[in-house]
Amino acid sequence: MDGQLKSCLADRLAMIEERIGAACRRAGRQRSELTLVAVTKTVDAALAALLPELGVLDLGESRPQELWRKAAMVPGPVRWHLVGHLQRNKIERTLPLVHVIHSVDSLRLLQALDQEAAKQQQRVQALLEVNASGEPAKHGFGPTEITGVAPKIDQLRHIQVMGLMTMAALEDAQERSRPTFALLRQLRDQLKGSLTRPHRLEHLSMGMSNDFEVAIEEGATFIRLGTVIFEGLSETKR
Ligand SMILES: *Cc1c(COP(=O)(O)O)cnc(C)c1O
Repeated sequence: MDGQLKSCLADRLAMIEERIGAACRRAGRQRSELTLVAVTKTVDAALAALLPELGVLDLGESRPQELWRKAAMVPGPVRWHLVGHLQRNKIERTLPLVHVIHSVDSLRLLQALDQEAAKQQQRVQALLEVNASGEPAKHGFGPTEITGVAPKIDQLRHIQVMGLMTMAALEDAQERSRPTFALLRQLRDQLKGSLTRPHRLEHLSMGMSNDFEVAIEEGATFIRLGTVIFEGLSETKR
């Protein structure tokens, strides 16, 4: 049963790698410039644990509690990524477990993370979530807001802002995500000039199952995939 599931998963990953490779070639980019984060929120820890065995070491969760739970259950050298909203009362427990927080959606959260990082004597890597598609229901900094708060971000020394993250509007036609991704890249380039070390602004976390190839063409360095990896496999969830 597990063997079958594992070979299904291996096939899926091989197919996805082919699509990633093709998108990289179209964009003249190297595969090594980008990291696939497997978002495991729809599957159980046993299924998530197969990923590192298949060479996928970057796993993502959108809810902090679920990240805590899976981090305790999935063995091996896994790098956990938080891709969803973090409430401030969950910072303390999340920090020691997480490799990158993709979803820092306010200055207040960023400052609270910086403080806790100082307390825990940790360097925290974070991306700023930008609501680049302009939908009111979404978390994140507004595209104009973010350049305004850059001087405040630049004062923080315990958190390292590594780049920007966005979610495009969910559309069937992946081309419709392209303007959102292009805007995120422009913002990143702008912001680079106003932030100094330890901040680096090298990364763009963008692209999900429905639009990751366009995201790669537009410069993504992290793509966050769930459905395309796990669809249909989670029915075997035990
Ligand atoms: C669930 C989720 C993903 C993965 O989405 P799929 O469309 O299933 O690939 C990526 N990013 C975030 C923030 C998510 O919550």
